[in-house]
Amino acid sequence: MTESAREETGDGSLGVRLNWLRAAVLGANDGIVSTAGLVMGVAGATEDRSALLTAGLAGLLAGSLSMAAGEYVSVSTQRDSERAALAEERRQLRERPEEELAELADLLRRRGLSEDVAEEAAEQLTERDALRAHARVELGINPDELANPWHAAWASFLAFTVGALLPLLAIVLPPSGARVPVTAASVLAALVLTGWTSARLGAAPPGRAVARNVAGGALAMGVTYAVGSLLGAAGV
Ligand SMILES: [Zn+2]
Repeated sequence: MTESAREETGDGSLGVRLNWLRAAVLGANDGIVSTAGLVMGVAGATEDRSALLTAGLAGLLAGSLSMAAGEYVSVSTQRDSERAALAEERRQLRERPEEELAELADLLRRRGLSEDVAEEAAEQLTERDALRAHARVELGINPDELANPWHAAWASFLAFTVGALLPLLAIVLPPSGARVPVTAASVLAALVLTGWTSARLGAAPPGRAVARNVAGGALAMGVTYAVGSLLGAAGV
């Protein structure tokens, strides 16, 4: 099956792919905002480049690993419950095939097929692959494409890391006087991009999403920079 044919089969694989892309953009956004807040806070307190680098790298790793671990746990749980549902379905098909056939026909009827067509379709689907038919129609699961927790964990790790690299590089590369303005400007520009992209992928109007995203990032940097400056001035 070609890629485009696969997208048109109506099993939601295009939607799934867009969701992944949107999750990646949001993960990068998280990496940008949290690392920017962290390094701006440290930059408020010190001009020491190695302190900035240490804080930024620690923030990058802590954030990306915690995102990956969280995603691994949540997707594993989802996969366990999908597997349990499939096992239960398999048991029902073995123990009471007649009721399951009637159930499938009923579900197809509720989706708009006439009585005769629904019964005929249910019989054919059951003959071909009863478990798959029940998985798709009854549970909304594609048994060949159960979510993979390792893929999800890697994707979160990478997305956060890519985002976090921007403020990290922006704070350590420029000379000390330019660090804060360069970081603020590049972070806000990146947040325009991620806000716009995630809104477009979610089919929402981008204007407000961009404004909220930029405001959130500006707030995070402003607050941590102010706190860092106060602590730095107080000699903490
Ligand atoms: Zn069933």
